[in-house]
Amino acid sequence: DMPKPKWKRVLLKISGEALAGEKTSNIDPAILLRIAQEVAAIARLGVEVAVTVGGGNFFRGATWAGASGLDRASADQIGMMATVMNAIFLQASLESLGCPTRVQTAFKMAEVAEPYIRRRAMRHLEKGRVVIFGAGTGNPFFTTDTAAALRAAEINAEVVLKATNVDGVYDCDPRHNTAAQLHQHVSYAQVARDRLSVMDATAITLCAENDIPVVVFNLNIPGNISRALKGERIGTLIDQ
Ligand code: UDP
Repeated sequence: DMPKPKWKRVLLKISGEALAGEKTSNIDPAILLRIAQEVAAIARLGVEVAVTVGGGNFFRGATWAGASGLDRASADQIGMMATVMNAIFLQASLESLGCPTRVQTAFKMAEVAEPYIRRRAMRHLEKGRVVIFGAGTGNPFFTTDTAAALRAAEINAEVVLKATNVDGVYDCDPRHNTAAQLHQHVSYAQVARDRLSVMDATAITLCAENDIPVVVFNLNIPGNISRALKGERIGTLIDQ
């Protein structure tokens, strides 16, 4: 028998970079399809899944700010629109698998998606629709990690599941140090104190203040998204 999923409502954060995979183009459709398959399967089990998508595979505001006179706020608006492209693509993938979805954007793009309305988002979740949040927080100078933490708090998600390209949180950078150790568990305070690069400080603070645990895990291992969504112990758990 399959164990009962641990979570009733989760917020899954998928970075833009993860969607690109090894590809030099912006999205690897095979990766996107696998993500959609795992999300759809868990949604079918009755777990309420909200997704916040990043946009770094297309555009990062901070990287482009300054180019040809582009100010940071405008650059970030372009970045937020990049996240909407990922949201639409993920929506299409999920729906091709028969999984009902809604995209809600933090600023109005009425012909493309619903505007973010908290109560409506929760209603969709109750009805078994996967809700995909696009356009981050709608504000420049923020990140989609912060958007994930914010939406999780707003919709009363029990956990933020952060899908990344590494196995979790290490004591030092595993790309530069072969002796790097993976943490099974770290506290919010430890992440802040040791400046562990896992989420920006704003996002971690929001999760800490609202007592929302974060699970950081590797999405490149097939089955991991399902495991995380079901509440299996993978990657690194961040909490009090
Ligand atoms: N962004 C923003 N406000 C937000 C979320 C995102 O301005 O609330 C912009 C910002 O320019 C960022 C880009 O959107 O660089 C893409 O988001 P992010 O870098 O968080 O994506 P990820 O790293 O997850 O792919």
